[in-house]
Amino acid sequence: MMWITRSIRRPFAHFQAANFSSSAAAVEAERCIRDGSRNDWKREEIKSIFHSPVLDLLFHAAQVHRHAHNFREVQQCTLLSIKTGGCSEDCSYCPQSSRYNTGLKPHKLMNKDAVLEAAEKAKEAGSTRFCMGAAWRDTVGRKTNFNQILEYVKEIRGMGMEVCCTLGMLEKQQALALKDAGLTAYNHNLDTSREYYPNIITTRSYDERLQTLEYVRDAGINVCSGGIIGLGEAEEDRVGLLHTLATLPAHPESVPINALIAVQGTPLEDQKPVEIWEMIRMIATARIVMPKAMVRLSAGRVRFSMPEQALCFLAGANSIFTGEKLLTTPNNDYDADQTMFKLLGLIPKAPDFSQNSAKEFETERVEAAASSSG
Ligand code: SF4
Repeated sequence: MMWITRSIRRPFAHFQAANFSSSAAAVEAERCIRDGSRNDWKREEIKSIFHSPVLDLLFHAAQVHRHAHNFREVQQCTLLSIKTGGCSEDCSYCPQSSRYNTGLKPHKLMNKDAVLEAAEKAKEAGSTRFCMGAAWRDTVGRKTNFNQILEYVKEIRGMGMEVCCTLGMLEKQQALALKDAGLTAYNHNLDTSREYYPNIITTRSYDERLQTLEYVRDAGINVCSGGIIGLGEAEEDRVGLLHTLATLPAHPESVPINALIAVQGTPLEDQKPVEIWEMIRMIATARIVMPKAMVRLSAGRVRFSMPEQALCFLAGANSIFTGEKLLTTPNNDYDADQTMFKLLGLIPKAPDFSQNSAKEFETERVEAAASSSG
């Protein structure tokens, strides 16, 4: 009885003694909501956010997410492998490299009818973004195939969908041609940190990857670039990847976060699966340091339960890939995804054809700062 009386008088007395010192996630999320996004991140700052207590990181990332996006909207995308396998590169995670014996059947470039049919099907199933992937080092010397792909881009854009391509490294002229064809975004992942990168790929450099991103950006195409966790990298490498992305002159409009699906026959076949908390840490940190980007819960989603995916959405992921396969690896079941949308109260996101939105956001922010200081 005594205890009850005291509790009624001072119901939160026991909280006052707790130590509520702010985490880096709390401080930076608050700053982001107040001042907008920034590109001058120090690696140590991102590291501190990344290492904040995970529930605090999740909570503050969710706040940034709600500030910068409609938190109920999740974009459904479809990624189709239009040219499969036989790739000359040595990306250690990839079953499409010709260097590894994974039993994957190579397939030359799909014809127009088959690609357009797949795009129609994806649209009917609710996808608003159609991504085409070709297993190539680059598109140099592939004029016929490249021109064919330009046609596919035009047609699919004409269906009212966002169109993305991932065709390897690009030259400046090719980026411009893709822009003319109506390409919304070009995907070229950095995969991991600059330091860890040589452990994963030796056939092209980190700087070559960044060069492609620059051509894409300069052509006025949205940049889609992210990475993969679970490659054997350290947490410091995850921080390094996010630091590189968040300090590009303009943040990528799209940041896919993948969890490795270890494929037998690749050098990474024995990697242990990524834990959900690793994924949440990565998504939440990406959300705080690149608030306007679409953070895409990509490969590896198939291994996560619905409650686990819900935590990823809360942390700031606002896009998933639907469809039977994600390039060559299995993907989530269509009906299960529909049930998830219903249960979690998610709304399919409409297509967005604005380009270089990250740049516009930066301009708005600079203008707002200039007018408030004047
Ligand atoms: S990730 Fe792309 S470039 Fe690397 S081996 Fe696979 S298909 Fe080739």
